[in-house]
Amino acid sequence: MPARTKLRRRRRTKIVATLGPASSTPEVLSRLFYGGADVFRLNFSHGAHGDHLARINMIRALEEQSGRPIGILADVQGPKLRVGKFQGGRIALQTGQPFRLDLSPVPGDRNRVELPHPEIIGAAGIGTSLLLDDGKLRLRVTRVREDHLETEVVTGGSLSDRKGVNVPDVALPIPALTEKDRADLDFALAHGVDYIGLSFVQRPEDVAEAKAITAGRAWIMTKLEKPQALDNLDEILALSDAVMVARGDLGVELPPEEVPLAQKRIVRAARERGLPVVVATQMLESMITAPAPTRAEASDVATAVFDGADAVMLSAETAAGQYPYEAVNIMDRIVERVERDPGWRALTAASRPAPEPVSASAIAAAARQVAHTVNAAAIIAFTDGGSTALRVARERPDCPVLGVSTNLSTARRLAVVWGVHALVTPEVHTMSEAVTRATRLARGEGMAAPGQEVVVTAGTPFGQSGTTNALRVAHVR
Ligand code: PGA
Ligand code: MN
Repeated sequence: MPARTKLRRRRRTKIVATLGPASSTPEVLSRLFYGGADVFRLNFSHGAHGDHLARINMIRALEEQSGRPIGILADVQGPKLRVGKFQGGRIALQTGQPFRLDLSPVPGDRNRVELPHPEIIGAAGIGTSLLLDDGKLRLRVTRVREDHLETEVVTGGSLSDRKGVNVPDVALPIPALTEKDRADLDFALAHGVDYIGLSFVQRPEDVAEAKAITAGRAWIMTKLEKPQALDNLDEILALSDAVMVARGDLGVELPPEEVPLAQKRIVRAARERGLPVVVATQMLESMITAPAPTRAEASDVATAVFDGADAVMLSAETAAGQYPYEAVNIMDRIVERVERDPGWRALTAASRPAPEPVSASAIAAAARQVAHTVNAAAIIAFTDGGSTALRVARERPDCPVLGVSTNLSTARRLAVVWGVHALVTPEVHTMSEAVTRATRLARGEGMAAPGQEVVVTAGTPFGQSGTTNALRVAHVR
């Protein structure tokens, strides 16, 4: 990548934009990036490997041309449950009528349809709720047989081919990675994506399994969208590199009034651990077909920023909507406006978690405090695997953070992290070399001017991950 660039965001909270048919030309991609998207998401629930590869190549070309590291999130589908097909493609279910779910692939009718998941049939009991088509329809199990479920329609409506099924009440005996996911994971890792979005995680073991496959080649971003995952939140966060509040499925599986609280709980728990957390789904939903958001949507984005999320995400708005650029642009403006509010600063300071009792955390806390006291222009964090920069970001300092790494993958991963502007730089060997480099880079990025102070943090010996132990105040010449 070119060594220098001036493209620096004026906000701390990052933006993730999903790519799809509406955003897969170099022109649209470039507009989304310059308009504010820091990370691009590839949704493996849709599209063939060829489509995703073309997008990856386009993103990397844009990265090369802009000189800015860009994060790529490969979001794998997970065990998304679906009904089979119908004769004629669609049926109408009346509230109160019986309806059977079975294993027969024969196209369904108004009395029955295939549910090609014997695990659900095995795990369901009398009274279990099945939610269809994003929760629009609801069935209640009245009878369990070896190869089928009898249900009663609690909320009727129209049901068409291959609609999704959610089963919130039961922990399903299925792993978070399907055969398709494993193939998608191999593909995504082979093409150097930065994060793997892991869908429908229920247990810590689901994360451990994905981690064993990725073996450090990408961060695991665990999607929290099952109530069972919230029951195991601490254990799941302990194994994750990042998390997503995946409100689409979470909002089907939980009653709507629980979603805002789940969001706050997850963001708080992730911030406590210094894990990047993304708030996702329906943030600017109406912009799929309209050039401006509703007031409620603008407030929703603002709430995620106030909650302290690292990033906010766009899904169909940028993947399939009519106004992908406008959606990124208004999101950028909302975030920036909130972050200019003194109330936001005060809240950010008040919700800062206490340092953890390890030297890395103490150094990061001290860096923030020193920077605040001397009114430093920036904190420059030398970071090999990203942990020093994550520690500093956890402190939510007032001044900008420059994350400097010898590793391009690390710089890309930091694209999702609150407040971190990442750069790749050749290796340094001593703290004094680091300080010289830091002040030069901060000047080059327009973050610090001659005469100002900056704070430099690093882990020595250099080149070893997770050793944050040094803090220096330096004068920019
Ligand atoms: P999905 O995940 O869009 O892949 O389902 C996000 C969500 O459920 O919110
Ligand atoms: Mn989902």
